[in-house]
Amino acid sequence: MQVEVMKNILGANDEIAQSNRDLFSQKNIFVLNLMGSPGAGKTSVLEKSLAILKSEMQIAIIEGDLFTAKDAERIDRIGVPVFQINTAGGCHLDAPMIRKAIDKLDLDALDLLIIENVGNLVCPAEFELGESKKAVILSIAEGDDKPAKYPLIFKESELILLNKIDLLPYVNFDLERVKKDLSRMNPLAKILETSATSGAGIDEFCGWIRGQIQ
Ligand code: MG
Ligand code: ZN
Repeated sequence: MQVEVMKNILGANDEIAQSNRDLFSQKNIFVLNLMGSPGAGKTSVLEKSLAILKSEMQIAIIEGDLFTAKDAERIDRIGVPVFQINTAGGCHLDAPMIRKAIDKLDLDALDLLIIENVGNLVCPAEFELGESKKAVILSIAEGDDKPAKYPLIFKESELILLNKIDLLPYVNFDLERVKKDLSRMNPLAKILETSATSGAGIDEFCGWIRGQIQ
């Protein structure tokens, strides 16, 4: 019974996701669905990268959050247009929420739209938003067992950021094993080691974004 209900919800979501996707491709906008646990560093990596990219292209950000606008305020301080979606406790964004948000954005002027999903390693990977690509941020402080325990999000993502890499000397995280696990479950994904604190990998992340825009 529950399975049937879930299927129907996803069916309705996917239809709207497809119409979002059609609209984005018609407007020639690259849309990244950025996912990861709470505290993985999604907003911090965005802050560092947007400071570099904002002078090169027209960008907007959609911030998904349970109740607050804390992340949106951080992005706003960088000087990039940001639209806040509060899910009122909902643990992921869905396509109808994105549809409502993009009605408020000037799509004709945009090159890049980044959607920071609600912090969660599980269901954000199950809900298509109409994005061009998915990316996941795993901070090494979360533990090296996470790709094996939450495979879907790592299989769905074309870019995987191993973030807070500056903490590597202080935590038990087998970096080589994780990279091996990831390339086995998703051979085509690009894997970057990043740190918003040290700045490691931020140029590479920006370079990957540029490559998607061209
Ligand atoms: Mg955040
Ligand atoms: Zn959820």
